[in-house]
Amino acid sequence: MPLVNLKTILDRAYRNQYAVGAFNIINLTFLEAIIAAAQKQNSPVILNIAEVHFPFVTLENIVPAAKMIAERTAIEVALNLDHGLTMKAIQKAIDLGFTSIMFDGSHLDYPENIQQTQAVVAMCRPQGISVEAELGAVGGEEGGGLVGSADPSRYTDVDQALEFVRETGIDALAVAIGNSHGKYKSEPCLDFDRLQAIRDATGIPLVLHGGSGISADDFRKAISLGIAKINFFTGMSQTALNAIRAYLNQGQETYNDYPVMINQVKAAVCETVEEQMQIFGSAGKG
Ligand SMILES: [Zn+2]
Repeated sequence: MPLVNLKTILDRAYRNQYAVGAFNIINLTFLEAIIAAAQKQNSPVILNIAEVHFPFVTLENIVPAAKMIAERTAIEVALNLDHGLTMKAIQKAIDLGFTSIMFDGSHLDYPENIQQTQAVVAMCRPQGISVEAELGAVGGEEGGGLVGSADPSRYTDVDQALEFVRETGIDALAVAIGNSHGKYKSEPCLDFDRLQAIRDATGIPLVLHGGSGISADDFRKAISLGIAKINFFTGMSQTALNAIRAYLNQGQETYNDYPVMINQVKAAVCETVEEQMQIFGSAGKG
């Protein structure tokens, strides 16, 4: 079926208490691995392309591929701009047919974040494109390869969250509750009381960034408290590197082995994504 927007996928997930994974595509291998996993698990899926990954993947090439793959499947697929930072990137994503935009104004002061998020909603809403925004600041740096840690002074404030959602009309809110991008320095400790209070205040699907490294139990608890979208990239990237290392460690490769190795990477990434879909509860919900 054609790409659907984020709201379509998340409203159903939020009502039925499961979360849908948003997996970053950085090339055709990842795109095919993620879609294969979604088909095997009969799971809806969100394809993320992060603005920081624009140097690695040519949007004009990968977006038509994503659209065609989605059209050939029966599962729901959304295409989301992950961490849109500039209006130029957001406009480009809209023009290319993304069905969702995540605007990241977490580096802005609060009034400026509201104002710019409102502007993005005004650009997207008339075209049926969903908008996710972030309040507070998730630790680490998206795509930065840094070791992440969360700063409690920048956790999402509950009263601000209510006002922010009312003022902007966004479809989903990314929260900072102890989650972090990249690899966690130490066992993540999520502030579930805060999450519950944000859910009760806002009543809209919430998003957990920095999904790699959070335990299955913590995921399940977070989902029961309103998390309906989970961003997951670091774990896939690490899986791909591990598969490459394992292949090369055999030490007998010839020039012919590159496509074989890439297929092994694809299979390994597919397996990692499938595991997450089972934990998130989206398996069987396609
Ligand atoms: Zn993120």
